[in-house]
Amino acid sequence: MTAESAAAAVQATVYGYPRQGPNRELKKAIEGYWQGRVTADALRRTAAGLRRSTWRHLADAGLGEVPTGDFSYYDHVLDTTVMVGAIPDRHRAAVQEDALQGYFAMARGTQEAAPLEMTKWFDTNYHYLVPELGPDTVFAADSGKQTAELREALALGHTPRPVLVGPVTYLLLAKPAPGVAVDFQPLTLLDRLLPVYAEVLADLRAAGAEWVQLDEPALVQDRTPAELNAAARAYRDLGRLADRPKLLVASYFDRLGEALPVLAKAPVDGLALDFTGPAAANLDDLAAAGGLPGKRLVAGVVDGRNVWVNDLKNSLTTLATLLGLADRVDVAASCSLLHVPLDAAVERDIEPQILRWLAFARQKTAEIVTLSRALAQGADTIAAELAANRADLASRAGSPITHDPAVRARASAVTAADTRRSQPYPRRSAAQRAHLRLPLLPTTTIGSFPQTGELRTARADVRAGRTDEETYERRIEAEIREVIAFQEKTGLDVLVHGEPERNDMVQYFAEQLTGYLATRHGWVQSYGTRYVRPPILAGDISRPEPMTVRWTRYAQSLTDRPVKGMLTGPVTMLAWSFVRDDQPLAETARQVALALRDEVNDLEAAGTSVIQVDEPALRETLPLRAADRPAYLAWATEAFRLTTAGVRPDTQIHTHMCYAEFGDIVQAIDDLDADVISLEAARSHMRVARELARHGYPREAGPGVYDIHSPRIPATAEAAALLRAGLEALPAERLWVNPDCGLKTRTWPEVRASLENLVAAAREVRGAL
Ligand code: GLN
Ligand code: ZN
Repeated sequence: MTAESAAAAVQATVYGYPRQGPNRELKKAIEGYWQGRVTADALRRTAAGLRRSTWRHLADAGLGEVPTGDFSYYDHVLDTTVMVGAIPDRHRAAVQEDALQGYFAMARGTQEAAPLEMTKWFDTNYHYLVPELGPDTVFAADSGKQTAELREALALGHTPRPVLVGPVTYLLLAKPAPGVAVDFQPLTLLDRLLPVYAEVLADLRAAGAEWVQLDEPALVQDRTPAELNAAARAYRDLGRLADRPKLLVASYFDRLGEALPVLAKAPVDGLALDFTGPAAANLDDLAAAGGLPGKRLVAGVVDGRNVWVNDLKNSLTTLATLLGLADRVDVAASCSLLHVPLDAAVERDIEPQILRWLAFARQKTAEIVTLSRALAQGADTIAAELAANRADLASRAGSPITHDPAVRARASAVTAADTRRSQPYPRRSAAQRAHLRLPLLPTTTIGSFPQTGELRTARADVRAGRTDEETYERRIEAEIREVIAFQEKTGLDVLVHGEPERNDMVQYFAEQLTGYLATRHGWVQSYGTRYVRPPILAGDISRPEPMTVRWTRYAQSLTDRPVKGMLTGPVTMLAWSFVRDDQPLAETARQVALALRDEVNDLEAAGTSVIQVDEPALRETLPLRAADRPAYLAWATEAFRLTTAGVRPDTQIHTHMCYAEFGDIVQAIDDLDADVISLEAARSHMRVARELARHGYPREAGPGVYDIHSPRIPATAEAAALLRAGLEALPAERLWVNPDCGLKTRTWPEVRASLENLVAAAREVRGAL
């Protein structure tokens, strides 16, 4: 095919769309169903209505094929588990009795049966339910959901392209089922799984699918030769099936690397590749592999996981190059639009000029269609769009919001000395001991206390203007008094103010920093029916005034014990926001760090001797490919040090992370140069303490002894046993006693009893030292 005829066939498409609906109708219907207020039929009707309006919108916007099967009541990986019949034994009866109830039982657990484990979908903030497989797993095809949604779209007159999680990615995302050897490799089940996929593909073909998309994002990660072989085998076998739909194998979130030639050679009909950010390397790799002669290429040139308008001219240059490399080139977002909010046009609080810099799912769809039109009919057919786009990009690049000379000057003047404490850890540690005079095994908490309904109402009321600022502040002060009094009475050593004024650990700071935008309706699915509204890091970051000092100072005025200041660290501020794409992440991190550094220094000046800077996102933001990790860890740890290094030697810097496995980043944790770290450990029986010891970690640590993810109250003996396990790994001089994480999701009765037991356990173990 010539470049001209390839261009003539250009289509616009997407791999998936936000599921919730314009007013989060899906969330409301599902939660109503859980509470028994909405019938299963009503829920199904709401879902079908949302699918119908999404397809209608996509087709009206000008998409050729619309995706089907991307819709989900909870999670598309769980849907895949149902599709291949890999229902865990403990849920089998429930699923057989009522498929919908059983589905939610797998997602959320029941009194009798634990849910599937949940974890992050690659390096996004979406969470999927982890398949549980073992040598005895028997797969069985259940194509019902996929074929039903396909038929629905066909009946509405669309050209649907079912989207499935591919078999290799499905297995690579799975873990050994409970009771199965931990070293069991789910990928060994590939030969058993492929016939099930073959059956689903045949069903979809029979139901009228011309193309089916198989998503293999796991292939953008570092893969062993054996795993690449498995991918080659999978697509050779599926490609050779008789009477199958055309197969489009999609990858996203990074470059395919070694997997690119594997997929390019496979007997499938098309590849969908990401060409945004670091994945732009796919372009050269594809050329080096000889292109995709005879195949369809779907080019992800519109960033599917960020909120900025596309640079249409740049994308057209990429697309023009690609036209020479494949038989047919279509235009798409880099990944499913699930990861961005639905529609920027409904935002009322963002200045119209700034709103023009933003593109959510609807706007991205329009960009994709515009680009496909230019590719098919020439750039002059989109002259107006190109001119408008050029103006929007210029307005963003030239705006005082994105270029604050004071912020820039300060960031470029940062020296290595700014990122180093004035004394090395051992000398600081001695100074802090003398200054704080804490007992051995000091007790503390991670920051938040229960966020009661009254607190949330008080915040909503002041926001809506139903109460005045004054009343609200008295309410927060009352809460702080209660939290401090409780901690004193219970005998904790380092107190916290309880964070009653914070809606969310990132949003609270984002709202007070210049350069951040907040949306009103920018909901994005985190998991199941949980949606978050990530703030947008839009401009240069500065701190007009102190953000937390007032509350920490008030708390400290109530007690003689040290009150720990509490901040969210720069890496987490980036990780849980939409970030700028017009400068390196390291630059944005440095600006945020400088703003937080001022807050740290102001806290110290206000008399705070212990300051905690939370970085729960440090590990989850690790790049997907190992080769990219050292550079990330270098800027991430530097940003933390820049935040914290300005304090006196006798001011104690804490950090907190909530994951029990971090063996791969102990060096980075040490590079933070914090004085104390608290970590999640209760469920893993203090494994973290042993890992720290094994790596020779020299500082103080508080592996959690209270699992705050569970309503269970740990008995004193249980917490004491955990502490003794901690003492086998770390010396008493370096061990702290604390819960796994903040207490905001727990109730007061649970927290009261648990912390009393935690203090009793510390006293008991201290007494025996
Ligand atoms: N300081 C925060 C809290 O206690 C930390 C939350 C977190 O680690 N996710 O809630
Ligand atoms: Zn935590």
